[in-house]
Amino acid sequence: MQLYQSNQIKLYNSLTGKKEVFKPIEEGYVGMYVCGPTVYSNVHLGNVRTFMSFDVIFRYLKHLGYKVRYVRNITDAGHLENDADVGEDKITKKARLEQIEPMEVVQRYTVDFHNILNTLNFLPPSIEPTATGHIIEQIELIKSIISNGFAYEVNGSVYFDVHKFNKTNKYGKLSKRKLEDLIHNTRTLDGQSDKKNPQDFALWKKAEPQHIMRWPSPWSDGFPGWHLECTAMSTKYLGEQFDIHGGGMDLKFPHHECEIAQNEAAKGKSPVNYWLHANMLELNGQRMSKTTGNTVNPDELLSGNNKFFSKAYAPSVIRFFNAQSSYRSVLDLTDDGLLASEKGFYRLMDAVNLLENLKPSDKSTIDIHAWKQKCYDAMNDDFNSPILIAHLFEAAKYINQIKDGSERLNTEDLKTFTDTINAFVFDVLGLENTSKNESGTDKLSGAVDLLIKLRQEARANKDFALSDKIRDELAEVGIQLKDGKDGTTFSVN
Ligand code: AMP
Ligand code: ZN
Repeated sequence: MQLYQSNQIKLYNSLTGKKEVFKPIEEGYVGMYVCGPTVYSNVHLGNVRTFMSFDVIFRYLKHLGYKVRYVRNITDAGHLENDADVGEDKITKKARLEQIEPMEVVQRYTVDFHNILNTLNFLPPSIEPTATGHIIEQIELIKSIISNGFAYEVNGSVYFDVHKFNKTNKYGKLSKRKLEDLIHNTRTLDGQSDKKNPQDFALWKKAEPQHIMRWPSPWSDGFPGWHLECTAMSTKYLGEQFDIHGGGMDLKFPHHECEIAQNEAAKGKSPVNYWLHANMLELNGQRMSKTTGNTVNPDELLSGNNKFFSKAYAPSVIRFFNAQSSYRSVLDLTDDGLLASEKGFYRLMDAVNLLENLKPSDKSTIDIHAWKQKCYDAMNDDFNSPILIAHLFEAAKYINQIKDGSERLNTEDLKTFTDTINAFVFDVLGLENTSKNESGTDKLSGAVDLLIKLRQEARANKDFALSDKIRDELAEVGIQLKDGKDGTTFSVN
């Protein structure tokens, strides 16, 4: 018997706006697609939050015994600067500015993405397909949409006919927008004159002479529209209909709306049974976004080398911080919040590290099965990780009570207790077992703090040669000291 048979997950489906019982198309198997990064710059912590939320969902589904095929793509072509199909391709622009090949841009930021995700202990997806690796599939999809009458060609570009589609289908059902409202609210931008209506979106764009990333097609040498790749790749690897599609809230419209329209137009089917959207990460109260520049990258938080935070944080502290709020809530990244999570994380780890030394008793005084059920109930309720963490803190209290003899567990219950904690802490939340003293970043902080203290003493004794030596030699090994009005802090390059 697999765990999923005794655990009924309810998840919030953005399509219906309700929590629904999760029933996969094929019992025991889950197909899940999550929109991946556009690899034209380093991922920031906002991007990471969305991917981390789905990493925990992937981990929990696997823990329940589902065979999960998790597809997360890499967008390496076709993503223009502006959602209205105008502006330069993001990757081409970066390549032009840096005077390198677009594929060098793609390689650099794909490697960065993988490195960051490894550092943060992500599980790799089952398949990580790229847009440029699926141009043929995208062209075939456009042909089907044209032959079903939902797209038209103008001057070598192909557009999806949203108005025609809306006569037989419902455009806007995911984002709860009505076409009439969209018509009312759309500004007509220059450069859109090829479209019959401004709400139409590009399936294929004819490449301008200077556009490097181009492929031959029946319509022109050009490139696919951004929304198309996810439809082509999800269909190829998960089928015309699959279980879960995820992404950040900001992708609901137009990206996911267009994915639904493309599938319905090409195959006559709504592709996804459950749409899951992760909410946004803010930085000190403002959405983290590449466009506004209000971003912190994971390596800047891991090294402490940034202007927002007082210290470096360990990878598991970042994971713990993320899991302390529901994936559907806005999460504000602040120093106070991270400090509180760090304290909580090490408190939990200290308790977990006592587990193997606990001795069983003849009788149990705690109902461990009821506690275990509460952990599952939390995750079954739309992957409610903050409630799960509250139950893990309750377990930390039990561990300390068992250690001091005020509570007892028999052999069988102690094994259930230990196995459940390990499963949720390490397999599901993906935390790594670091105690405060073992963590590399904390050891480094301790050592540098000591040097800062010695430097202060040297200055107080007017031994400026020594104080400069400490500063300069730390700088030589990549540790910068910053003197501020509240004392000296450091960052690692
Ligand atoms: P992009 O590379 O811009 O296509 O974004 C990759 C993923 O990160 C998408 O699922 C976005 O929805 C998500 N994302 C972007 N900004 C944030 C943010 N501030 N908080 C959470 N997710 C975000
Ligand atoms: Zn997508």
